Formats: sequence, C-alpha cells, structure tokens
Amino acid sequence: MDCKKYRDNYKRYNKFPLDQSVWDTEEYKQYQEHYYDCELCGIWDMEQKAIEKGMDVNKYCCTEMAYHLSKGLDKDPYENPDVVIIHNKKFDEYGIPIQDGGNSFIMIKHCPWCGNKLPQSKRDMWWETLESLGLNNPFEQNIPEKFETDEWYR
Ligand SMILES: [Zn+2]
Ligand SMILES: [Zn+2]
Repeated sequence: MDCKKYRDNYKRYNKFPLDQSVWDTEEYKQYQEHYYDCELCGIWDMEQKAIEKGMDVNKYCCTEMAYHLSKGLDKDPYENPDVVIIHNKKFDEYGIPIQDGGNSFIMIKHCPWCGNKLPQSKRDMWWETLESLGLNNPFEQNIPEKFETDEWYR
C-alpha cells in the first residue's frame, strides 16, 4: 500500500468499532503494515487525530506534542493514564502529570519529541500583571476571567 492509498483509507479504518468484515481483510493488514513502516504517515495519522479533537496543530512545536496533548481533552488528564503530557494554559507551562490522584506535574523545558525549547513559564508574569492591576492577592480577590486561561497573554 502506498501513502496515498493509506490516507484515502484513513476515515474508513478509523470508525470504531470496526466490523470484522472490515478488519479481517488483506487490505486492512496492508493498511496496518503501512502505518508501522511509514514514519510520514504515522505523523500524518497523529495530525488527523489531533485535528479531530479540535487542536490547532500549528500552535505547537510539533505534531507529536499536539497529538499527545489532545489525549488530555476527553476527560480529566490526571485520571487518564494515556496522558503523558499536559499544557497548563494559564501559566503556559508544559509538564508530565503525576498520576497520584492530585493535579501536579513535573515541568519540562524541552519537547520530548522534537527537542525544541518550550515557552518560558509565565507564572511570574501572571503575578506581576495582576499586581500591576492592583490585584496582589488573586486567590482572595475577584480576578478577571481571562487570567484563568491563556487569554491574558495571547
Ligand atoms: Zn506513507
Ligand atoms: Zn515538539
């Protein structure tokens, strides 16, 4: 199977659950073989899955990052062992979630897949910006909603 045929078949073979009449075929076997052999289609596959979850793939350092982050969108990422990385949008921090029932993570500075440097944490800037607005105790005060998301620095 070539790349074009693989990509043409993507939709058909990613509608789960797959019926036996679909997966128990020579073509499906070839489709899977292509997935394991072709790095480009592997990446392309991840891109489709990230886009399906509403990710803007271009906003991230690489497709793998977008794909792995998209896994955290379905349910609480701290309760989903499939999630290996999270992005704290409020502070623009990337990290490895600690699956101990809490919601902490180990911050990382480089992408584990492409090696690019990740943005610097905006945690200090978050405090400073609020302080400049006269909000020096944000946990006690009512802060503008945009400071709970990435909206305040976007
Ligand atoms: Zn291919
Ligand atoms: Zn990356």
